[in-house]
Amino acid sequence: MFDLTLAGARAGLRKGEFSSRDLTEAFLGAIETLNPVLNAFITVTPELALRHAASADAALARGEHGLLTGIPLAIKDLFCTQGVRTTAGSKILEHFIPPYESTVSANLLRDGAVFLGKANLDEFAMGSSNITSAFGPVVSPWTRNGDNRPLVPGGSSGGSAAAVAARLALGATATDTGGSIRQPASFCGITGIKPTYGRCSRWGIVAFASSLDQAGPVARTVEDCAIMLQSMSGFDPKDSTSADLPVPDFAAACRRGVKGLRIGVPREYRSDDMPPEIETMWQQGLAWLREQGAEIVDVSLPHTKYGLATYYIVAPAEASSNLARYDGVRFSSRTDGADLNELYENTRAAGFGSEVKRRIMIGTYVLSAGYYDAYYLRAQKIRALILKDFTDVFRTVDALVTPTAPSAAFAQGERMDDPLKMYFNDVFTVPANMSGIPGMSVPAGLDAQGLPLGLQVLGRPFDEETVFAVGAAIERAAGFTALPGMRAGGGA
Ligand code: GLN
Repeated sequence: MFDLTLAGARAGLRKGEFSSRDLTEAFLGAIETLNPVLNAFITVTPELALRHAASADAALARGEHGLLTGIPLAIKDLFCTQGVRTTAGSKILEHFIPPYESTVSANLLRDGAVFLGKANLDEFAMGSSNITSAFGPVVSPWTRNGDNRPLVPGGSSGGSAAAVAARLALGATATDTGGSIRQPASFCGITGIKPTYGRCSRWGIVAFASSLDQAGPVARTVEDCAIMLQSMSGFDPKDSTSADLPVPDFAAACRRGVKGLRIGVPREYRSDDMPPEIETMWQQGLAWLREQGAEIVDVSLPHTKYGLATYYIVAPAEASSNLARYDGVRFSSRTDGADLNELYENTRAAGFGSEVKRRIMIGTYVLSAGYYDAYYLRAQKIRALILKDFTDVFRTVDALVTPTAPSAAFAQGERMDDPLKMYFNDVFTVPANMSGIPGMSVPAGLDAQGLPLGLQVLGRPFDEETVFAVGAAIERAAGFTALPGMRAGGGA
């Protein structure tokens, strides 16, 4: 069962080869064995999962086949789940039990999914390595050849990505504010897509940076992502930025092929610090697309070089405002003080970890009187130019292909001394958030250390279909079948 893709499991359920209960029990068993090592889940919900599985089996017996009927999934612990603790990876929300369900997770339940539990993440989704979670780091199921040091799964959706890579779930929800779907997918050898800003409702997702946050799936294959995104997407009157547009058939788009498509290669994504293996993988990916009938063209995105710097102004600015609500009065854990101000200070000092505090301080600084124009306003202007770069190139090309991240996964402890080194991870992913365009990471191969490397496909706003077509073409050519050492059904 652990070798099944989501699409394969769905076919097996429909044919009655096994029940959702069989599938759910198998995954719960695997979680029991491997989660103590990987720490991919903060909360496991076996009773809830078995209840969902029972109603899925009843639906299947009645011949009702929803998009995800009976499919066990992990939910990033940033999505509010009714009656199930939702921590955002933070001590400050350690005891928060939402009285409502996020729109995205409600959509998955409507379509028959089974929830196995809540996946670990960087605190408030701030990070690229899952080191900042108040519930301990996630360990990647991958290791370097001949080296057993624990590696990071990437972040912030590291629990989601590790769970899928280790075969503890058939898919998982994730969110991407600056790369948190695509970078962990790349590190863990799986697929993930951040759709266009507005495609999925943000209602009920703990907010990090509201103008950048977007939900999306991680799963084993491009088609599995298409099936999940189909369910997660759609207009929601409860999110004023959600797009009132029809949701296309994403799975059908995976079968379109790339013949006649023009694929752009942005020259600014070439960096001297990038390992040569990543450059080689990139060239290989472009060759695969050319062989399948696509035309490869060089393009320029001149403002890309400001992407990282402006992201690390805009994202903390919005975070500092969003996180003001955790004051010990309503949602959060409380640490008392002599008066109200002291209660706020004590609560926030005890409840937030150091990366979150750093972001709040940067954000408060760039928004403060006297600095607002120099930093925040300037960053917003450059953000408009980054979007204009993409608008211009998408007049002549249908999609862009780049590496997802400037390196493969690194070991726990590496790059931890200097926050700027950690921020550099996001150099290829943040432009898609700054401009709102869709982006996917597809595993393309292994590096010399035996670690997965992903390629990123970027597309026009609300044209996820072309992104799926290109992603599927890379997947077909790459034939990526490598498995991590630590996985369910494969021994450790
Ligand atoms: N690594 C980036 C950050 O720390 C992106 C995080 C995300 O996409 N949630 O801000």
